[in-house]
Amino acid sequence: MIYKRSSALFAEAEKVIPGGVNSPVRAFKGVGGTPIFVKEAKGAYLYDEDGNRLIDYINSWGPMILGHAHEPVVNAVIEKAKKGTSFGMPTEIETQIAELAVSMVPNIDKIRFVNSGTEACMSAVRLARGFTGKDKIIKFAGCYHGHSDSFLIQAGSGASTFGTPNSPGVTAGTAQDTLMANYNDIESVKALVEANENEVACIIIEPVAGNMGCIPPKEGFLKALRDLCDAHSILLIFDEVMTGFRLAKGGAQELFNIKADIVCFGKVIGGGLPVGAFAARNEIMNYLAPLGPVYQAGTLSGNPLAMAAGLSMLTELNNQSEIFTSLAEKTAYLHKGIAKVLDDNKIVHTINRVGSMISVHFDGAEVVDFKTAANGNNDTFKAFFHGLLNAGVYIAPSAFETWFITEALSYDDLDFTIAAVDTVAKTL
Ligand code: PMP
Repeated sequence: MIYKRSSALFAEAEKVIPGGVNSPVRAFKGVGGTPIFVKEAKGAYLYDEDGNRLIDYINSWGPMILGHAHEPVVNAVIEKAKKGTSFGMPTEIETQIAELAVSMVPNIDKIRFVNSGTEACMSAVRLARGFTGKDKIIKFAGCYHGHSDSFLIQAGSGASTFGTPNSPGVTAGTAQDTLMANYNDIESVKALVEANENEVACIIIEPVAGNMGCIPPKEGFLKALRDLCDAHSILLIFDEVMTGFRLAKGGAQELFNIKADIVCFGKVIGGGLPVGAFAARNEIMNYLAPLGPVYQAGTLSGNPLAMAAGLSMLTELNNQSEIFTSLAEKTAYLHKGIAKVLDDNKIVHTINRVGSMISVHFDGAEVVDFKTAANGNNDTFKAFFHGLLNAGVYIAPSAFETWFITEALSYDDLDFTIAAVDTVAKTL
């Protein structure tokens, strides 16, 4: 495929935007080459500035569960925009989407909307600290909860791709309050809790990790975390920025039947517009300003366009819960197809999958945490990525990311993808 115009646009962008991108993982640094500039997208497809069509397995990093430019969502935004784009005052639609979210997600009474997943996780941690009166937090190596200071310690996603999981600019004081455990290793969490008795406010986790590839929680791991939290008065925060409204109506809490104390949401809840949210039971949420002492605010929070897009999408997901089964079936079909052609071509690999999240790791061992995720062969991944791109299939430009399946994908698209993997595998 030809990427002449994308390359020219990238060269222009580099002059005025650091690295030519507004979010690092877009820059193709992990895989080499220049990023693709998107002109438009519809359903399961991206159309780039050179006129190429790409089957999209990123879907704006998750939210396009129903496909790009989904008509009801687009129409909802257009109709809202005609009536004004921001007021910084309450609107009825904020209550409507809050009521719907509270009815879909288990164990939450109230929800507050913010503008990104980063804000949601950052605010959730502040709330947990305020509520418990404790300072330290436990996170897991390779999990990503946005770019707020407390989380940029052994962070996943772009932070790992670019070798900066511990970012300069985060003070030693901040870093010392973030304790690091290993995903799927309950003993590593217990040791931290015991060594920091009465100091840990919360444990924050991606209930299915999606920022070191896709890594499912081992059987019993989330339950063990829940029990540990209960025994030590620690709040359990589920970062459901990727999993919320994707793995099930009620997200990972519903899928695994585990209660979290605070739940964070992101892009999905805004149907692709800039939104995040965090939610909990009354006792915790009432600690927030203006009711309680923990401060959190935002000029554009609950913005009418974002609320309209989110309400339209959540309503459809709520009314048609068969979508979750259909998504999981499509993902299982893709898994089976890719595994077969990689096996046939004798490419060593491991595929992880939960619901509509899936990732291919180029290592034969089980991938259960950051260390095992990092063992993947990155040269093979790079060749795999570029081979698929040339064939018209777009996956994340980093091995430390999950793929997101959209309902807009047809079985023909999945067969096309499996055939492309077969062609690429012959060159690896
Ligand atoms: N949490 C998780 C699990 C994420 O995957 C991300 C972003 N991919 C974030 C938080 C941060 O969200 P945002 O990029 O909207 O700030």
